[in-house]
Amino acid sequence: MLENELIVVVALRKSEGMAASIIERLFPGEVQMERLPYHQPVMVAESISYLAVQEGGIYVDCTVGEGGHASAILQQATPGGKLLGLDLDPEALEQARYRLNKYGAAIILVQGSYALLMELAASEGFSQADGVFMDLGLSSYQLEASGRGFSFQRDEPLDMRYDPQGVLTAATVVNTYPLETLASLIRRYGEEPRARVIARAIGAHRPLRSTQELATLLAEVKGQRRRGINPATRTFQALRIEVNRELENLQDGLSQALDLLRPGGRLVVISYHSLEDRIVKNTFATEARGCICPPHLPVCACDHIARIKLVSRRVIRPTSQEILTNPRSRSARMRVVERLH
Ligand code: SAH
Repeated sequence: MLENELIVVVALRKSEGMAASIIERLFPGEVQMERLPYHQPVMVAESISYLAVQEGGIYVDCTVGEGGHASAILQQATPGGKLLGLDLDPEALEQARYRLNKYGAAIILVQGSYALLMELAASEGFSQADGVFMDLGLSSYQLEASGRGFSFQRDEPLDMRYDPQGVLTAATVVNTYPLETLASLIRRYGEEPRARVIARAIGAHRPLRSTQELATLLAEVKGQRRRGINPATRTFQALRIEVNRELENLQDGLSQALDLLRPGGRLVVISYHSLEDRIVKNTFATEARGCICPPHLPVCACDHIARIKLVSRRVIRPTSQEILTNPRSRSARMRVVERLH
C-alpha cells in the first residue's frame, strides 16, 4: 500500500487529473473518482451557439486542452457527430481523454499543432468540417500546475513549451539570444515599452535559471508596481509567444481552418490579448472582402474573392456575470465567421 500511496502523492502535486488516471489504472474498476477539471472554459454557451453545433455534425477543436469546450460540443453533436481534438500538450490530451472517454469513437484526440491542421485532419479522415473552434493561449492547468515556468508567481525552470518535445525553451531565448533580438521580441510580443532596458539587464545577469530569478530582475528593472499589471507580465507573455511561435502558428491555423470548413460551416476563435485578436480580425477582414486591390487602381487586378462572411461585426465579450465567476475570462474576445459557397 505504501508504494501506491507514494504514487498518489507525487501525482497530486502534478495535477488531480493525472492522479485520477493513475489511480484508475492501478485499481481498475475498484475506485470511483470524480475529478474536477483545472481549467474553467470561457464563453461555452456562446461557443456552442455561434458554432451552430448540430447533431451528427463534424467538428474540430484545435485547442482541446482539458476538453471543456469539446465536451459541450460533443454533447450537442452526438449521437452521430464527431470531434477531432488537437493539442500540442500531451498532458492536456491525457486529461481530455479521461474526461471525454464516454463519447467513445465520436472523439479522436491527436497531439499536434493547428498550424498543421489540414494535414492532421486528413490523416484522421476529416476532409471537411461543419465547425472549427480555437481557444487560444494557455490553460489554467499549464499556468498553475504544469511546472513548466509559465507563471512569474512560481519558481520553476524557464521552459514555457506547450509541447515538451519542442526545440526552443524560454531558457534558450533568455540566455542565448543576441540582446537586440531579445529587446525587439519583448517589445513586439510583450508590447513592453522598456524592452531595451530589460534586455540589457538580462544580458548583465545571464545565465538566468528560473522564473523567480527572471521575475525578481524584472521587478528591479521596472520598479515594484503601485497599481496595474505585474512588472513581469509583458516579458513573460513575449517569451511564451516566441517559444511556441504563437503568432505564426495562429496565422497558419486560421487560414487552414477556413480551408477545412464546408460552405456554411463556422469558425469561432477566442483570443486573450490584442496581438492575437489583431491577427484574427485582420485575417477575417481580408478573407471577407472581394477585391483587395489598392484603392487607386481603376480596375481590379487581384481576382480576390470573399471566402467568408462575418457572423458578428463586433467582437463578442463574456458577460459581466462570467467575468465575476471566472476572472480569466475578462480578456476574452470572440470572433466568428461563416464559410461562403
Ligand atoms: N478550451 C480548452 C482550453 C484551451 S487552453 C478547455 O476547455 O479545456 C489552450 C490550449 O491550446 C492549451 O492546452 C495549449 O497547449 C493549446 N495550444 C497552444 N498552441 C497550440 C497549437 N499551435 N496547436 C495546438 N494546440 C495548441
